[in-house]
Amino acid sequence: MKIDTVRSDFPQLRETVYGKPLVYLDNAATSLRPLSVVREWEDMSLKYNSNLHRAVHKTAVDATERYESTRAAVAAFVGAEFPEEIVFTSGTTQSINLLASCLEGSGFFSSGDEILVAESEHHSNIVPWQLVSMRKGLKIKVIPVNSHGEILVETLSELLTPRTKLCCIAHISNVLGIVNPIREIVDICHANGTLVLVDGAQGIVHADVNIREAGCDFYAFSGHKIYAAPGTGVLYGKKALLENLPPYMGGGEMIESVSWEKTTFAPVPGRFEAGTQNISGTPTLVPAIQTCKILRDREIAKEQEDIKAFMAKSLTSNPDITLYGNPEDPAKKIPLYSFSVAGVHHEDLALILDKMGIAVRSGQMCAEPLMNRFGVTGMLRASFAPYNTLKEAEYFIESLNKAIKMLK
Ligand code: PLP
Repeated sequence: MKIDTVRSDFPQLRETVYGKPLVYLDNAATSLRPLSVVREWEDMSLKYNSNLHRAVHKTAVDATERYESTRAAVAAFVGAEFPEEIVFTSGTTQSINLLASCLEGSGFFSSGDEILVAESEHHSNIVPWQLVSMRKGLKIKVIPVNSHGEILVETLSELLTPRTKLCCIAHISNVLGIVNPIREIVDICHANGTLVLVDGAQGIVHADVNIREAGCDFYAFSGHKIYAAPGTGVLYGKKALLENLPPYMGGGEMIESVSWEKTTFAPVPGRFEAGTQNISGTPTLVPAIQTCKILRDREIAKEQEDIKAFMAKSLTSNPDITLYGNPEDPAKKIPLYSFSVAGVHHEDLALILDKMGIAVRSGQMCAEPLMNRFGVTGMLRASFAPYNTLKEAEYFIESLNKAIKMLK
């Protein structure tokens, strides 16, 4: 079976917790690492360790070559037109903060301008915009979701005004698992002259991302959710837009020339990558991308579909369970399930499941406004990766039912 071969590349899947085989269902928080990623990190640390872009010695040239060829590999993976459109960051959070700072510094926003943010966003795609809004006197308008968790695209026509400069939206919600209609939203926003930032932290894992087809202006994601080293990430931006942005941080290697009178800046993307970059981590994006491609295999995709059908049926047929993010069309949802159980606290459930070897997330999942929307203080979330199996899903449901019985 292909899935067994794939799983053997992820050593953590052979770990036990409390004497039980680990069933890792917290993939939306961070994925597990395959050996290929660890080996690349090791090679970069033990064979190619050297600072980037600076020295002329062979090790520095080799390290720089591996770092820059990673940029080209990421550009090809997401369908960017130019490698320069890929800015390396420490993750989605830094990517969005970088963009927020640079847009602010460029004079893009004037007092009274508006930013649209979906109700289902992660705090990383809310708070950076609140910070800019506080400083620049902007207004944040919220795009609502319906009771299934779907974004109400039809409200855009009322929300958009001539002052709407930017729309910030997740490709896939980390709480609801719903795939948002990015192309449709981009088209509506662009017709209004509004730029679109897509938070792709979950989208890059579960969708075949083609940025040019999506048409968005910016796309942010983290390496650690697609099997790469933590502390790696990407901000994609259309070249013409990035070229009009000022630097994010000042420091080494982001300049063209420095004098007391006048400092000029490097072309994109170097302008946004001040200081020593993640020398060992960033090149792990290459084997990580390879892993993503392997995991999109048909046989594995079929197992994912079986997991989706089983999980949806099991969770929706239990009258005690409220599932958040339940679109009519199952194709609109990834195998990510956030729910609450009547009369049982999500954290108690998570602790019992942990004792059964199951790692799940409980709490607000960095989306407090969405918790308020559904009137809950938190949820329990089981998020599957393509290396998870139907057997694990079955064990999860069986264990969940046992845990509920114990707590009721
Ligand atoms: N956006 C979404 C949708 C996420 O799921 C996450 C992480 O869970 C983030 C942003 C933040 O990612 P990071 O912590 O890697 O910067």
